Formats: sequence, C-alpha cells, structure tokens
Amino acid sequence: MSILDKFRQLAAARDALIGDGRPPFGAVIEKILSPTEGIMYGRRTILLGTNNYLGLTFDPTCIEMAQAALRDEGTGTTGSRMANGTFSAHADLEHELADFFGRRGTIVFSTGYLANLGMLSAVAGPDDVVLVDADCHASIYDGCRLGSAEVLRFRHNDAGDLEKRLRRLGDRSHRALIVVEGIYSMLGDRAPLADLAAVKERYGAYLLVDEAHSLGVLGQHGRGCAEEAGVETAVDFVVGTFSKSLGTIGGFCASDHPELDLVRYACRPYMFTASPSPSVIASARGALAALRARPELRQRLWDNARALYGRLEALGFELGGAVSPIIAVLMPSADAAIAAWRRLLDGGVYVNLVLPQATPNARPLLRCSVSAAHTPEQIAAVGDAFGAIALPAPHRIGSVIAL
Ligand code: PMP
Repeated sequence: MSILDKFRQLAAARDALIGDGRPPFGAVIEKILSPTEGIMYGRRTILLGTNNYLGLTFDPTCIEMAQAALRDEGTGTTGSRMANGTFSAHADLEHELADFFGRRGTIVFSTGYLANLGMLSAVAGPDDVVLVDADCHASIYDGCRLGSAEVLRFRHNDAGDLEKRLRRLGDRSHRALIVVEGIYSMLGDRAPLADLAAVKERYGAYLLVDEAHSLGVLGQHGRGCAEEAGVETAVDFVVGTFSKSLGTIGGFCASDHPELDLVRYACRPYMFTASPSPSVIASARGALAALRARPELRQRLWDNARALYGRLEALGFELGGAVSPIIAVLMPSADAAIAAWRRLLDGGVYVNLVLPQATPNARPLLRCSVSAAHTPEQIAAVGDAFGAIALPAPHRIGSVIAL
C-alpha cells in the first residue's frame, strides 16, 4: 500500500462523472464573453453558476483601476504584510471597508477562505467554545480545525437549539463564539439573525456572521443580512469575501473590538501567506465604491432572482429555500442531477451541480446563481431550458425531471 493508493477510489468516482467528456466539476469555460456568457464545449452558454451577484467582473471603472495599479505597482506584493511590508492601498481598502460597515477596523485577507480560517483560529482559544451552524461553509469548519477551541454544532437556523447548547455551557457561554452565515451558499436560505442575535445577547456570547453571499445583496445599503435584520450592533465580527459581489478575490473581517488589530499578530492565515496583488486590491476598491453608489444593481439582481424563482416554481420544480439570488433546484437522485446538468448544458445553460456530501440533508441539487447583469431575455432562456427538462404535472413521479 502506498500513500497514493487512496486516490484510486477517487479516480473511479471521477471517471464515472466524466461520462460524455463534460465533467460537472471543474467544467471548462473556454472563453469568457461577459459576466453572464461564455463559450463552453464550443457553444455560447449562459453562465448561471457564478457568484457574480452584481455583475461587476467587467465593470469598466474596476478594470481601469486594476490596470492602473498593475502598471504603477506591479503584478504582485511577493510576500505577507507582516513579514514583507504592506502597500498603502491595502490599508486604504481596510479603511473604506470599515467606513462602509460603520466599524472601528477591518483586516483584509488574501481570500474569504483565509478570513474564516484566520478569524476562527485566532479568536477562539483552547478554553473557548465555537458554536457553528450545521450548514456552515467548509472554511468555517477548517478554521475550527486550525484552532484549538471546543467545537459544537447546532441545528441549521435553529435559535432554540443554539440556546439549549449555550444554556448547558453555564458560565462558559461568555467564552462562546457563535458562527453563522447571512445567506447560505447551497440553498440560498437566510439566517434568522434577529432570533440568533437575541440569544447571543441573553447569554453574553460573541457572534461572527459570514456575509460572503449577502454582501451587496441584502440590506438597504448592501451591508448584508445583519443590516436587513437590523441587528448589526449585535454582530461582533463581520466576515466576507471579494470573490462574489465584488467580482475579484480576497476576504475581510470588520469589527468594533479594538483587539481586531492584534489579530494580525496571532493569525497564521494572515501572517504566513502573500497579501493580495495591487490590481486585486484596486478592483475591490472600485467594486466596493460601485456597490455603495449603485443600489440599482441590487434592485436588478432581486428582479432577476424573483423572475427565475417564479418561473422554476411554476414549472413545478422543488426549490431549496425562499427567493434569493441563489436558487437551489432539488433533485431526486445524483444520477438525475447529473443528467439534468448535462441537458441544461446542451440547452446553453451552465449551473452548478452539487452532490452529497456538499449538500444539506444529502439532497443532490442544481445550484443556480443569478446576477444583476443577466438580461430579462437570458432569464427567460434559462426558464425555457429548465422547462425542457421538466415533465408536465400529471406525469411527475416524485420529481419533475424527465430523464
Ligand atoms: N464563506 C462562504 C459562506 C463561502 O461560500 C465561501 C466561498 N464559496 C467562502 C467563505 C470563501 O470565499 P473565497 O472564495 O473568497 O475564499
């Protein structure tokens, strides 16, 4: 037996998925045409499997800002901010994020994954407890693993279950960090933040909200789920990413706690990796400015989300959550999901295939993510493509998928 033998099983699983030569995981977009279209397998395809919520990846101002930074500051920082020095644009972006969230400070990380890894491992120490919503993202679980705190899971979106666990902790509840997301990435459902925040306050715990999918999407100013729920003051740490609504790459944590700045000195995923390239920081700054100045993008995103959700619902598909820019179409089996994914691709629509264990409740699903940049015609075309794989109601047997 060699250390590589374990990959044989993975190879078999991967080969079974490759099927007709179009692997659903790591599908290749041969050419990107716009935020919402690309060439896939030689065909013009509507992209409905991105996280480009505000459609800013081709924003002319962001591109110009990134080009100027590339020209003026070079292609990379070549090191970490602690070891190799910080560029002033990193600090400028931190101030702009702090101002946007109305917080005392912000730390920029190289990705959202690293922001969670860094915050969880640095903030929750050996005597502390992390209470994690069961549906939280892998980066949150990995952050717990990197740290040394006790980790308890509570039932997804269940404030009662959270309260039960905090009660059992007794005095230790003051050393507990509750971790939830604003919008959950697979089903598109939102955290009941008003309830969760009330429990947090009752037990004197701390609350971290990962607004990765809700930044620019929820709240009057786009600050996320906590803004929408009116509980921002109850949130100790706001984590987020630049890789979704801001259309680039990077992550952050904003907080009012003065100790946040000290996290930089105790956080391996901040200290031991290179800081984001100047062009990335520049386009993140441009996108944040666009998010603040152009609320119509959020309006268009929600118009598109409502239109597609309504169409899929009318077609009889079982959908994962309430209306949101993430629309999960639940499938009866992995085989049905894979076949539906291929037929949608044949119809010129690319969505994300998600199979257990990456799905909540072990249900395979097709994850659609809507963008402000989708045109009404594209949304209609997506509806038509789904219509082509749905059976008329009388012929449905537990599912609407015709195979
Ligand atoms: N948190 C959540 C909830 C996510 O869905 C993701 C990415 N899908 C991340 C964090 C990681 O973000 P990034 O892509 O910036 O590493």
